[in-house]
Amino acid sequence: FEPWNDPEAKPLIQFKGVTKRFGDFTAIDNQTFDIYEREFFALLGPSGCGKTTMMRMLAGFEKPTEGTILLGGQDMAPIPPNKRAVNMMFQSYALFPHLSVWENIAFGLKRDGKPKDVIAARVDEMLKLTRLQQFARRKPHQISGGQRQRVALARSLAKAPKLLLLDEPMGALDAKLRQATQFELMDIQEKTGTTFVIVTHDQEEAMTVASRVAVMDHGRIIQADTPANIYEMPNSVYVADFIGEVTIIPGKAHKRGNGYDIAFAEGQPTLHSETDAALDNGQTCYLALRPEKVSISAEKPADRTNTVQGRIIDIAYLGNLSTYHVQLPNGQMIKAQAANTRRLSRRDFSWEDTVWLSWTDTAAVLLKG
Ligand code: ATP
Repeated sequence: FEPWNDPEAKPLIQFKGVTKRFGDFTAIDNQTFDIYEREFFALLGPSGCGKTTMMRMLAGFEKPTEGTILLGGQDMAPIPPNKRAVNMMFQSYALFPHLSVWENIAFGLKRDGKPKDVIAARVDEMLKLTRLQQFARRKPHQISGGQRQRVALARSLAKAPKLLLLDEPMGALDAKLRQATQFELMDIQEKTGTTFVIVTHDQEEAMTVASRVAVMDHGRIIQADTPANIYEMPNSVYVADFIGEVTIIPGKAHKRGNGYDIAFAEGQPTLHSETDAALDNGQTCYLALRPEKVSISAEKPADRTNTVQGRIIDIAYLGNLSTYHVQLPNGQMIKAQAANTRRLSRRDFSWEDTVWLSWTDTAAVLLKG
């Protein structure tokens, strides 16, 4: 499912040069991008980067200062929130405490004056979709947090919106339940075919549920791509650093073969990266290296291009694997991850050990400064 690569695919939402200012503060800075039908699109970024402002503009609670937002090709500017084929599920769920699960889900349909049998059929469908049939008569305080979350989801999908906005939909759930709920949410999104846009602080959650993740900074989308591309092919030091663990090694690039040699410190071997970057000779560059792509060994490996020696100064034990922080003689820190295949008492490496780190020509991504 890659509508963004399909010239026939129709965007459901189009941002065209959208800017939002509050006074002289620019919260969203001239953004142009599309979100496709049936997409699960995540907005990710540090606090204050503009995620909520994006959502509020889509919902119609805020108007762009400049530019247009189209939904299904139609300019949304003159259309008030309640007339948009858009619904928003809030972190607080905002369920009516005095109404039953059934009545909560039926609320919007009743308000629209839909016939009784239509309402009943639709509520049943929603109860089934969210596996809440047996809780239909209960009040929100008589069900669990996870079930309340599903009621909120059922209620926000009852009117079959084209677009559902989810603001930290799993923020109130504990870690174990969150994971189960993520898969449920993906399943429901797929079954209904509704376009979902989610805001979350949790990058693992965004990477799990979304077809594309938009990484934002200061009112701009820096990269919007599949989770795998965001992780494996970040377009900037900012994105590489924001998603997952990474080591950034600054250096100077020199073209060689299909890639670049990188001189990074005096007395250190030249590194090599086969990355398709357009760099001038001698240009400052940054190697972004994921820790799981770095091998750690006691002996110098014979067959790797990128081989450096350093000392272990920190070990983060994560159960299935450990992250080693290795310091090179010039002070550069490199993180390496290794699976803990042996029992801890027979651990391969300890603090203060001198070790070799190595990685292949294609392991690190070369980025411009
Ligand atoms: P968080 O993750 O903390 O919720 P966010 O990425 O959702 O942050 P927004 O709520 O979109 O960020 O806010 C973006 C910026 O715009 C912030 O600096 C915020 O202070 C500012 N802002 C948002 N709404 C208003 C407003 N009504 N008036 C003035 N400034 C605002």
